[in-house]
Amino acid sequence: MSSLGARDIPVYRFSKSETSPARASIDGIWINEEMFAGYAEFQKLYYLAHELGHLARGHCRYSPSLARELEADVAAAHLLCSKGYRWAVEQYIQHLDNVVSCYGPHARADEIHPTFLQQRDCLAQALAGA
Ligand SMILES: [Zn+2]
Repeated sequence: MSSLGARDIPVYRFSKSETSPARASIDGIWINEEMFAGYAEFQKLYYLAHELGHLARGHCRYSPSLARELEADVAAAHLLCSKGYRWAVEQYIQHLDNVVSCYGPHARADEIHPTFLQQRDCLAQALAGA
């Protein structure tokens, strides 16, 4: 995350019609406060770190892609581990295990994001190297 430097990252609220928990744009990070209110601490930390990963890697200038989503997942895992929140990544992986158990190995949030199993394996691999 060193490319973020010391500049502040503005955080905005989503409109109520948004269906994702958070997203990054060139303006900053947008949070769906209604969805966040129902999340556990590890989920809030993970989603914010994931969006910071998109910002740090300049993804907001490009169309979303599977590769960029996985890259943001790796960045999130490394950022959280470097700041003492390895537990949040571990709990997020457990959460993904539960989702895969419920919905199967091919389940995904949408066509842009990886399957939950791909995301889980990506994060487990990132943790092994962190
Ligand atoms: Zn993303």
